[in-house]
Amino acid sequence: MFGVTILGNNSALPAYDRHPTAQLVTLNEQLFLIDCGEGTQMQISRYRIRHSKIGHIFISHLHGDHYFGLIGLITSMGLLGREHPLNLYGPASLIDIITLQLKVADTTLPFSLIFHPLEKEGLILDHPKYSVSCFETRHRIPCWGFLISEKRNPRKIIREKVIEYEVPAAFYDQLKIGLDYVSKTGVVVSNELVTTPNIPDSSYAYCADTKYTESIAEKVKDANLLYHETTYLKELEERAIARFHSTTIQAANFAIKANAKKLLIGHFSSKYEKLDEFLLETKTVFHNTELAIEGVSYRID
Ligand SMILES: [Zn+2]
Ligand SMILES: [Zn+2]
Repeated sequence: MFGVTILGNNSALPAYDRHPTAQLVTLNEQLFLIDCGEGTQMQISRYRIRHSKIGHIFISHLHGDHYFGLIGLITSMGLLGREHPLNLYGPASLIDIITLQLKVADTTLPFSLIFHPLEKEGLILDHPKYSVSCFETRHRIPCWGFLISEKRNPRKIIREKVIEYEVPAAFYDQLKIGLDYVSKTGVVVSNELVTTPNIPDSSYAYCADTKYTESIAEKVKDANLLYHETTYLKELEERAIARFHSTTIQAANFAIKANAKKLLIGHFSSKYEKLDEFLLETKTVFHNTELAIEGVSYRID
């Protein structure tokens, strides 16, 4: 299971029961939190998510709507007796803020908070089953986007066939990467006989906050699901440019440039009560678009 659940889809202020930005990516048993606006821990309990399963938190930038919920969440994790480490990724000065908040409250966390400052683009987390990389977006202050990829082996085992050809289970991992099996007596079992091609790796790209910037599309090329901010409708393009945000049409054009399979839009300005127009406008340029709605999970495949 690879998917993303929206916990907050608004920009700047909470409004119309919409919360500042937070998203939870589920990748098999792993939970990754991307951004942590105010109220995120309440949203986590509202949608019955076990925050003890969150191992990594990624903060895009230090505008309050993306991290004001962090100290609350971290402190609660401590009060609830978390012992396993928590990895936090974000702009370098984030750790000074968190450290000061803990210090003045005379709070010592019962778990280790491992901070990874974001300093250059590239891989920030590498695991046999997944990887996370970061890239710079264009915003008023330094801001990072994230690309989470699920790694898959190129070949998939056909259960009946490995039994029929008597390939030992210890060799399955080699089969998954395409090797032929050679038995003790020298009989070669060709890989194609016992495996089929697997579906390719899939990825989720998170692009917020940002001004429309075509060069970023290269960094998130072919994403299965692309999240791009749409703070404004197209009529406010000038405001979007001035404030380093994007419009519906710009997000759609970006999705085309990036060759995204599907587009998810969010970070809506509080000036809009209804969101229907966001979807209609974006779909005129990029049809396979969905609104990021709080409490809804979107599959990444
Ligand atoms: Zn924002
Ligand atoms: Zn911002």
